[in-house]
Amino acid sequence: ELRKLFPEHPLVGLNRVRHVLAVASGKGGVGKTTAAVNVALGLAAKGNRVGLLDADVYGPSVPVMLGLNDSPDWENGMMIPVEKFGLRIMSLGMITDKGKPVVWRGPLVSKAIRQLLGQVLWGDLDYLVVDLPPGTGDPSITVAQAIPGATVLMVTTPQEVALADVRRSIDLFNKFNIGILGLLENMSYFFCGHSEKPIEIFGQGGGEKLSKEFGLPLLGKIPIDLEIGKGGDSGVPLMILAPDSETGRIFQNIAEKI
Ligand code: ADP
Repeated sequence: ELRKLFPEHPLVGLNRVRHVLAVASGKGGVGKTTAAVNVALGLAAKGNRVGLLDADVYGPSVPVMLGLNDSPDWENGMMIPVEKFGLRIMSLGMITDKGKPVVWRGPLVSKAIRQLLGQVLWGDLDYLVVDLPPGTGDPSITVAQAIPGATVLMVTTPQEVALADVRRSIDLFNKFNIGILGLLENMSYFFCGHSEKPIEIFGQGGGEKLSKEFGLPLLGKIPIDLEIGKGGDSGVPLMILAPDSETGRIFQNIAEKI
């Protein structure tokens, strides 16, 4: 029945989605989810209809960052995204038992991700922002294959050790012909409050180096910002707490470049 209604896309839920932006990283903990959430909110603030899909099988943290406790409702075998802050949201964390560790293995991971992409009533969206699992494992490959028209925003921190993983990730997306929109450097510097001089805690130049190496634009450099940390834990993200703060404006700029 649903296929008859939405015949064009092999994954019915994605039929009426205009652009898919996949947010990726080489490693965990670099701010991929933070970027996905705040860029999605930046896109929504410009009047776009935006969905946010948390496909990070290793640690779905979107529900915590957005303060979501609800499970999605079902309709005719399709899940209805939960709405908050103007976003339509779906997360693996909303359909698994809370607090229980989930050990997803290869084929199961692929199945779960395909379900999240295809069995959700996203409706008409200008952008679907997908928070990918970090790294180059099966889950990333599954998403890459399932959303052929997606473009990738690659998040990294500045230090050299992070870059090797990012290079591997970029190679993977290139292999699957997934376009990379650009790089976003996170945790680039910190203002301690005692000096005007930014402190580059994790070194510097990583984003620029990758940008040159792969010919990809560096879309922004986000500082370590206590409001981001607070926002991440409290369920109210920075783009809601302080959209016009200096960091908020960096996210706004990125949303404008997409
Ligand atoms: P990932 O998705 O790459 O694993 P997260 O976005 O979950 O990373 O970020 C990891 C932790 O670091 C979170 O608690 C988040 O709030 C915090 N964080 C991310 N970016 C920043 C930043 N620029 N300043 C302060 N805290 C940050």
